[in-house]
Amino acid sequence: MKLFFSSQQMAHQPKQYMINGRITDPLENPARAQALIKALTELGLSEGATGDAGLNPILAVHADHYVEFLRTAYDRFMQLPNHGPEVLPNVSAYQGAGQDYAARPKPRPVGVLGQAGWYINGLSCAMTESTYLSAYASAQTAISAADALLRGEKAAFALCRPPGHHAYADRAAGFCYFNNAAIIAQHLRQQHERVAIIDFDTHHGDGTQAIFYTRDDVFFGSTHTDPSNYYPHYSGYADETGAGKGLGANLNLPLAEGSGDDAFIEANRRLVAAVADHGATALVISAGWDAHHQDPLSKLAVTTQAYGEIGALWGAVGLPTVIVQEGGYSLSAVSEAAPSFMTTYQANRAR
Ligand SMILES: [Zn+2]
Repeated sequence: MKLFFSSQQMAHQPKQYMINGRITDPLENPARAQALIKALTELGLSEGATGDAGLNPILAVHADHYVEFLRTAYDRFMQLPNHGPEVLPNVSAYQGAGQDYAARPKPRPVGVLGQAGWYINGLSCAMTESTYLSAYASAQTAISAADALLRGEKAAFALCRPPGHHAYADRAAGFCYFNNAAIIAQHLRQQHERVAIIDFDTHHGDGTQAIFYTRDDVFFGSTHTDPSNYYPHYSGYADETGAGKGLGANLNLPLAEGSGDDAFIEANRRLVAAVADHGATALVISAGWDAHHQDPLSKLAVTTQAYGEIGALWGAVGLPTVIVQEGGYSLSAVSEAAPSFMTTYQANRAR
């Protein structure tokens, strides 16, 4: 299997992240990608060629005014008096999405501060001079992996960073700027009438859910920590099942704090069944390793072995699949969990 990556993704290295009222070093950093490259290369994945498909596949999912904000925000922010080292919002907009999660219009403020509050959801998405290009490269990494599928490859791994599943059509959130999984699900639609995205990162893939909430051609299923006391707080509940045409094409399986391997594996089993029910002919897996009990953000008790169990489940599905890297913040845990998953994934896929 091919491993897609772009070294441009490493340039994004913000210095500030606020958690629980304290500014600290971001947990999402280049060392994660280095650990994953090492672990996956040792498994025998070979490097795929990451190309540049331009902005069109990104604009098929993201609002053009949001992309323009990301492209220009750093330079504009650096014109502010007494500015800090990175773009961070001072304010947050009251206006949220409606019950259908439709993307919002272009905001009225023309200044970068008002726009930052509109487009960036919190203090986990500091933007440096390199952020736009790294997020762009992360999206291109995913697109190149999807293009390999469109050329007939059965599966590919897109080592994306920054990650994507919290990014909305018009909003950066939770270390994410462009929604890599959503971009390639849309990209795969050119050959596939129905595509499924499943997400076993320990945080709900709220951005992905929002992007496809009213559509039935792209199924979204996620298992994650119960959001009633966990990021992303405002979505990921079991009663969010889609709207309009998309009713029934969204499935959330929240897990109670402290849940272990059995609950995590059973939820993945239910997601496998839901993908089959939907009739998808291509699959995108948003793979995060942060449910692992050693992860600094984890409230679950999932072990390395469980990732091997779910790797077997997803491998046996047999659909053309892109595995997209999302979260996972313990270097030792990602170095165990990702290869555990990929070993059984590949073994069961080959059958
Ligand atoms: Zn996560």
